[in-house]
Amino acid sequence: MTDNHRDELKEIDEKLLELLELRAQKAGRVETKIDEQNYILNIVSNYSGMYSKDFVLKLFKALFRETTETPGHEEGREMLVSRKQKKSDTIVNVGSLEIGGSEPVNIFGPCAVESYEQAAEVASNLNGKGLGIIRGGAFKPRTSPYDFQGLGVEGLKILSQIREGYNLAVISEITTPGHVELAEPYLDVFQIGARNMQNFELLKAAGKSRKPILLKRGLSATLEEFLYAAEYILAEGNPNVVLCERGIRTYEKSTRNTLDISAVPLLKQASHLPVMVDVTHSTGRKEIMLECARAALAAGADGIMAEVHPEPVMALSDSGQQMSLDEFDKFYTNLV
Ligand code: PEP
Ligand code: MN
Repeated sequence: MTDNHRDELKEIDEKLLELLELRAQKAGRVETKIDEQNYILNIVSNYSGMYSKDFVLKLFKALFRETTETPGHEEGREMLVSRKQKKSDTIVNVGSLEIGGSEPVNIFGPCAVESYEQAAEVASNLNGKGLGIIRGGAFKPRTSPYDFQGLGVEGLKILSQIREGYNLAVISEITTPGHVELAEPYLDVFQIGARNMQNFELLKAAGKSRKPILLKRGLSATLEEFLYAAEYILAEGNPNVVLCERGIRTYEKSTRNTLDISAVPLLKQASHLPVMVDVTHSTGRKEIMLECARAALAAGADGIMAEVHPEPVMALSDSGQQMSLDEFDKFYTNLV
């Protein structure tokens, strides 16, 4: 290419960019209202230049995608979860606790509620630390159908006894839309677990409730999919959603999942919702939980979640990753 040709090409490309800029300014306002398919097909069928029709089709599809499907931008309006839609941080109130407020709210408790005594032992330890909330699964969505599935309603009843006896807010997982009504009187926060992040009927039902929802990131969910899942809840009218990073599936085998710390600042930038980090299910390793919890808080998390059991070796689920009360004491002293 001669210098002359290069200069000409550069001039054309610059004009092309100017035209694209002009197009972008107009497009946002009109593209959502036109029939994309017909519009593009019409352009392509009238085209007879040197590029292939396939290229022109792809080019216009890409242009449409760019101006109508930017993340957080849904059919010409911002998503409800988006920071652009609401600039100020959302604070989710759970009794006197403010998740997303000025202080981190950390959530501890056993993987599953196994008995009143087991839950009470952890509750009493939390009381000693001045903590205001306990977790514990009553409905456990396990990978194997032969593993302990939780105590069900009995577990919910134990949790509500703990709530009364130890003055703690309680959070537990719900797994079907029917649980919203069933668990309503027993719980203060509904958890939607990783395996149910895209259970859309459950998300819609949670959106109709006014209980705070702790929504966990799916095992292999992108942040965009995670935010769309939260959007389902907000779209039904429930603004009280806390996002929880809990590790994603990667090829790395040294940890149970890979804790995606970058998710914390990315979610905080994209959304006004509070963000927590579950250091137990993300790592599955007690010996690195403290460092990971510190990293999460340093990255801007509004709190961390971790599992604690009075006798981890006897635990009916996740026995290898739950902290004993002694381990928890040490962890907590070093965390705060
Ligand atoms: C849990 O918190 O009890 C749990 C099962 O976590 P996850 O849904 O993140 O696997
Ligand atoms: Mn668990």
